[in-house]
Amino acid sequence: MGQSPSPCAAAVGAPPSLVYDTLVIGAGPGGLTAAIYLRRFMRHVAVFDKGNSRASWIPVSHNYPGFPEGVGGQALLDNLRAQLQRYGGTITAGAITALRIDDGTFVASWAGGEVRALTVIMATGITDNSLPVERWREAVASGAIRLCPVCDGYDVVDRRIAVVSSSTNPIGHAMFMRSFSASVTLFDRSEDAIVSAPEQQQLAAAGVPYIASPVRAVTLTPKLLPVLHTGDGQSHPFDVLYPMLGEVAHSRLAIALGAASADCGELLVDDGQATGMPGLYAVGDVVRGLNQISVATGQAAIAATRIHNALPWTLRAAVQER
Ligand SMILES: Cc1cc2nc3c(=O)[nH]c(=O)nc-3n(C[C@H](O)[C@H](O)[C@H](O)COP(=O)(O)OP(=O)(O)OC[C@H]3O[C@@H](n4cnc5c(N)ncnc54)[C@H](O)[C@@H]3O)c2cc1C
Repeated sequence: MGQSPSPCAAAVGAPPSLVYDTLVIGAGPGGLTAAIYLRRFMRHVAVFDKGNSRASWIPVSHNYPGFPEGVGGQALLDNLRAQLQRYGGTITAGAITALRIDDGTFVASWAGGEVRALTVIMATGITDNSLPVERWREAVASGAIRLCPVCDGYDVVDRRIAVVSSSTNPIGHAMFMRSFSASVTLFDRSEDAIVSAPEQQQLAAAGVPYIASPVRAVTLTPKLLPVLHTGDGQSHPFDVLYPMLGEVAHSRLAIALGAASADCGELLVDDGQATGMPGLYAVGDVVRGLNQISVATGQAAIAATRIHNALPWTLRAAVQER
C-alpha cells in the first residue's frame, strides 16, 4: 500500500503490487475535474473511460459559467483533457467491468488486466431513456431533440414545444417548459394514461394540451423539425421535442460493493461525496441530484479534496541545491 506507480502503468496493466492513490472511472466533466485536482495534489491517478460522455452530446451549452458565447460539450471535454495532461494525467480508453476489494485495496478489472487503487471515484454518468427517433444524433446536434430543460429552456423561448413524459413525473417537465413558451403540448408514451384528473385540470389551466394517445415514433422534416406520430394515426409537427423519459445510472460497480442507491440506480452520497463504502466516492450524474456540468465539477472538487486529506500524506524531498 502507498507504493506509487507511474501514472502510465494502468495503460499496460499495472502489476498487482502497484497501487494508485485513486482510480477515476469515467472521463466526463466530473471524472476529468476530479483527476485534475488529484494530480495537482501530487496524487497518482488512473482514469478509465469507455467514451460517449453525455457532455459530448451538447451542441452548445449556454448555462455553463464563464463562457458568455456558450461552449460546445466536446470542446469543453477536450479542454479538460488537455488540462489533465498538463499535470501528467493520462486516460486509458476502456471499460472497467468489475470492482472488488482485496486486502484493503480496490481491484478493478478491464480488458487489459487489473488496476489497484486505495480509493475509487465513480464518475460514470447516466444514459437517458430514449424514444424511437430517426437520426437521433443529428436531431440532438441540431437542437430539434433536447434532453435537459434546465440547460436550454431559455434557448427555445416562444417555440412550439412537445414534451413526452413518463409516469414518474407526468406533468412536471411540461409545466416547467410553460415558463418559456405559450405553445407546450404534453404527450404520453404508455398505453395507460399517465396524467390524473387533477393534473389534467392543472394542465388545462396553464393552457397545455395533453395528447393521451401514445407516441409510437418520431420522424424529422427536411429542416430537421420533429414530427410525433401517435397511436391514433395522427401526426403532430413541432419545433422542439423534449423526451423526458427518465434515465439509467451507471452505478452497477458501486452497488455490487454495497453502495446505496435511489430511483434509477443513482448513488446516494454524503456531503463529501462518499458512498457508504469506505474509500468509494461518486460524483456527477451518477449521483442523485441535479444533472448539470457545474454540479459534476463541483462535486469532483469536493471528492478529490476529501480523498487527498484522507489518504496518508506524501512528504516531498528537500531541495538540495537551487
Ligand atoms: C443533449 C444534452 C445537453 C446538455 N446540456 C447541458 C448544458 O447546457 N449544461 C449543463 O450543465 N449540462 C448539460 N447536459 C448535462 C451534462 O452533459 C451532464 O450533466 C454531464 O455530462 C455530467 O458529467 P459526468 O462526468 O457526471 O458524466 P458523463 O459526462 O456522462 O461522463 C461519464 C463517463 O463515464 C464513462 N463510463 C461509464 N461507465 C464506465 C465504466 N464502467 N468504465 C469506464 N468508463 C465508464 C462514460 O463512457 C462517460 O464517458 C446536457 C446533456 C445532454 C445529453
